[in-house]
Amino acid sequence: MELSLKSKFTGALLGSAVGDALGAPLEGYGMEKVKSVYGENIKMLSGRYTDDTEMMIGVAESLIENRGFDGEDMAAKFIQNYHARRRYGPGSKEVLRRIREGESWEVVSGKLFDGKGSYGNGAAMRIAPVGIFYYDNTDKLREIAYKSSQITHGHALGKEGAALQAFSIALAVRGTEKEAMLLELKEIVKSGIYKEKLRKIEALLEKEADKKAVIFELGNGEEAFNSVPTAIYSFLRFDCFKDAVVYAVGLGGDTDTIGAMTGAISGAYYGEGAIPEEWKKRLEEGEKGRSYIRWLGEELHRVKFYIETKLYNYVPKRVC
Ligand SMILES: [Mg+2]
Repeated sequence: MELSLKSKFTGALLGSAVGDALGAPLEGYGMEKVKSVYGENIKMLSGRYTDDTEMMIGVAESLIENRGFDGEDMAAKFIQNYHARRRYGPGSKEVLRRIREGESWEVVSGKLFDGKGSYGNGAAMRIAPVGIFYYDNTDKLREIAYKSSQITHGHALGKEGAALQAFSIALAVRGTEKEAMLLELKEIVKSGIYKEKLRKIEALLEKEADKKAVIFELGNGEEAFNSVPTAIYSFLRFDCFKDAVVYAVGLGGDTDTIGAMTGAISGAYYGEGAIPEEWKKRLEEGEKGRSYIRWLGEELHRVKFYIETKLYNYVPKRVC
C-alpha cells in the first residue's frame, strides 16, 4: 500500500522529536559508554525533547502561519518558544538574544565566530519542516534551507549541512529508492566536503562497517559535516525506523541531534506508522508536545496542498 503523504509529513516531525528524546539523556557519551550503560537496546527514558525539537516547532509554526518562509517571523518564533532548560548551544543563545535586542536576523549570525558564522548542526537539526514543505522543488528547498539556517548559522558549511539534511528528507518524502538516493544527493550537494562524505557513506555501506569505522569516517560531533552524513548513513543502512534511530544514538557524541536527524529522514520515508508506539507514547505531551507536533505536520500538509490547488483561503487554526 502506498503511504499517504500526510503520514510522511507527520512522520518526519514526530520522527525527529522521538530521535531527539531518545538521544537526549546520552548526549556527549562516547560509543563505549552508551553500550556499557544501555546495552544494544536503547530505551526511551524521560521522553523530554531538547532545543532540536523546540526550534523545529518554531520552523513549522512560521511556515504554516506565513504559508512559506518569513525570516523575521521565524526568528521571533524561536525567541517566543525559547526555554533555557532545552539546552541550547552558546551560539544560538547569543544570536537569539541579539535579535531580541534589535539586530537583524539576516546579519547577526554571520558576526559570530570571528565573523565566519557557525558551521554547527543547529540549522540541520530543525530543518524537517522545510524538507517536507518544499519536498517537490529542489531549488526552492535549497533557497529556504539556506535562509532558515542564516538566522543562527551563517557559515556556508552550516547552511549546506542543513540543505543536505533537507534534501534527504525531501527524497524520503518522494519515496526515492535508497540506492538512488545517494546518487541524487551527490548531484544536488555543492560543497566538496559533503560530496566526499557521501562517497564515504557509499563505501561504508558496501562493507557493513563497524561503529568505530563509521565514527572515524563520518563523525559524531556537533559540526554539520560531522553529523548530517552520519544520520544519512544510519537511515540508509537499516530497513526500519527503530533500528536506524537506535543505531544513530548508539554511535554516541551528539546523540540527540544525530538521533533527531536520522528520525526525521526515517519518518519521512516510512511514515508515522513506522515509529514505535512505545516511543510516541513516551514522548512528552503538554502545550507543545506530541499531539501538537503531529498537528503541525498535518497543518503543513494542508497548507501546502491548499496553496497549490487554491481551494480556499486558508486561515491558521491554532498557532500561538
Ligand atoms: Mg539538542
